[in-house]
Amino acid sequence: MDLERILEKLEQKEREYISTLIEKDPLTGVYNRRKFDNDIELLISMSDRTTKGCGLLIIDIDNFKDFNDKYGHFEGDLLLKKVTDNIERSIRNYDKIHIYRYGGEEFVIIIPDTTASNALTIGERLRQNVKDACDVTISVGVSHYKELAGNINELITNADKALYKAKREGKDKVSLHENTF
Ligand code: GH3
Ligand code: MG
Ligand code: MG
Repeated sequence: MDLERILEKLEQKEREYISTLIEKDPLTGVYNRRKFDNDIELLISMSDRTTKGCGLLIIDIDNFKDFNDKYGHFEGDLLLKKVTDNIERSIRNYDKIHIYRYGGEEFVIIIPDTTASNALTIGERLRQNVKDACDVTISVGVSHYKELAGNINELITNADKALYKAKREGKDKVSLHENTF
């Protein structure tokens, strides 16, 4: 029996509760990797119907291992929550943007119906806001479908390459994947 059919049988409140358990990360409250894997295909196919396409940001906290080593894992967890809250507040005005916890201290943001240049601007704002409000910095890799990538795989791989470029160039940076496909 598929999930949709199980959820259909439940009351509204129960449905919301189960959806939260399945789709959200318990520590930060943002969507999890499972939800990302479900959403990305739909968002990409929707992008084919918009003129601007869709931006993807991969965010990674800088030197987070050092923070954990210095202040302990509990403080590290609190900081993860703080950084996530800050990012969520920074994108609150864009109701279609979703944030996902992609790995330990890595997050992905999908920005539908936007240009690569605007995705870069949003990444820069997130970087600055985190730097101003939290005890860590973030690096951000930006890619775009279809300006800079032709399919989902390229979109994610290119954002990842851009993230590593930002790390190589000294961290606390936003980098756009430059090569066209
Ligand atoms: P870089 O700037 O290159 O990204 O360095 P880094 O130290 O952030 O990256 P590295 O991959 O070496 O370490 C990631 C750290 O993130 C190690 C791990 O303990 C921490 N981490 C991952 N998930 C969690 C979590 O849920 N809670 C806490 N407290 N720490 C976590
Ligand atoms: Mg990492
Ligand atoms: Mg890191």
